[in-house]
Amino acid sequence: ELHAGEMDRRRLHNDIQELKGNIRVFCRVRPLVEGGLSKHIQLAASDNKTITLAKTEESHTGKTADTQKNYNFNFDRVFGPQSLQQEVFEEISLLVQSALDGYNVCCFAYGQTGSGKTYTMEGDECDESRGVIPRAVKQIFRAAEKLGAKGWEFTFTASFVEIYNETLQDLLYSGKARKGLEIRKSTNNEVTITNLTYERVCNEDQVLGLIMLANRNRSTAQTAQNDRSSRSHSVFQLDIEGVNVGRDVKCKSTLCLVDLAGSERMLKSQSQGERFKEMTAINGSLSNLGIVITALANKESHVPYRNSKLTYLLQGCLGGNSKTLMFVNIAPEPDSFGETLNSLRFASKVNDCVIGTANANRK
Ligand code: ADP
Ligand code: MG
Repeated sequence: ELHAGEMDRRRLHNDIQELKGNIRVFCRVRPLVEGGLSKHIQLAASDNKTITLAKTEESHTGKTADTQKNYNFNFDRVFGPQSLQQEVFEEISLLVQSALDGYNVCCFAYGQTGSGKTYTMEGDECDESRGVIPRAVKQIFRAAEKLGAKGWEFTFTASFVEIYNETLQDLLYSGKARKGLEIRKSTNNEVTITNLTYERVCNEDQVLGLIMLANRNRSTAQTAQNDRSSRSHSVFQLDIEGVNVGRDVKCKSTLCLVDLAGSERMLKSQSQGERFKEMTAINGSLSNLGIVITALANKESHVPYRNSKLTYLLQGCLGGNSKTLMFVNIAPEPDSFGETLNSLRFASKVNDCVIGTANANRK
């Protein structure tokens, strides 16, 4: 049984969820390569929800003073460059937990290439640097074991897909690129992919083994095409089915963890041929993701899931009673200023539509 503190935490969590709807946005700032934070990024000391980008414009005449423009953004949480993987995970562990309570849960990392998306989602191999995916998997299996003592039995199925140029690749399949992967929606609104590997898994180690396999398969595709992983979305899904025979109850849900393609904008003039196709595919699917989340938050009657493979695939995990978390990862280097501002604007558009107020103000 839950102890009192945990009960309070959950109640608070549920209250917040009710107030805010089911979408939350967290910002995470990568440290500078040499450590620390750039001067142009300020994090409010008083709360951990505000981030300010400052831009100093030098006066050209030398007669007037330099001007500084501040761009303020509020999120549900802002993690500074010193934040640890464990701290970040603590903030989302209740969300992960709710996947076992029958909620669909979807967590994304959005940001330019090099901003820390893969670090946040997968992390490094050493124990304390492990990211959201391995920590979530560990928590799910531990919690399932505890629920086992109360009569629950769970079955888990894992899959790992890459979306590149609007085509799907099975990352759990090591042979030559598999054909015939198509997204299908059944009459009971379940989304599946034809010909995809769905692997039954019983424990943490099996899933970690599959993640390693997916990484090997991805790096093979990568050598064939330079830096492909930054130009594709990778989607890890864990389907969970639970039954409690004694109490005659069932639940079914999906935990979906997504490392998105780099959000950086390329100039049309710089991208030709294959690059142009990639750019168009990435821009299209990322902006459609924003449109879908906004439409859901505004409870619009038409949600354009089908306009991109990504949103079509995630349809079951977005909307309804699903819980969604978006990380916006940003790079602290001054020469990333433009991309950082773009990412924060995208994320705050998502955040604002959720809470229904414009909180990104330009001073
Ligand atoms: P992305 O996936 O967005 O392209 P990465 O996750 O690969 O970016 O991060 C780029 C580099 O920065 C990697 O070497 C990664 O290990 C490092 N890095 C990213 N975020 C952090 C962090 N919070 N703390 C320490 N190193 C980080
Ligand atoms: Mg990456």
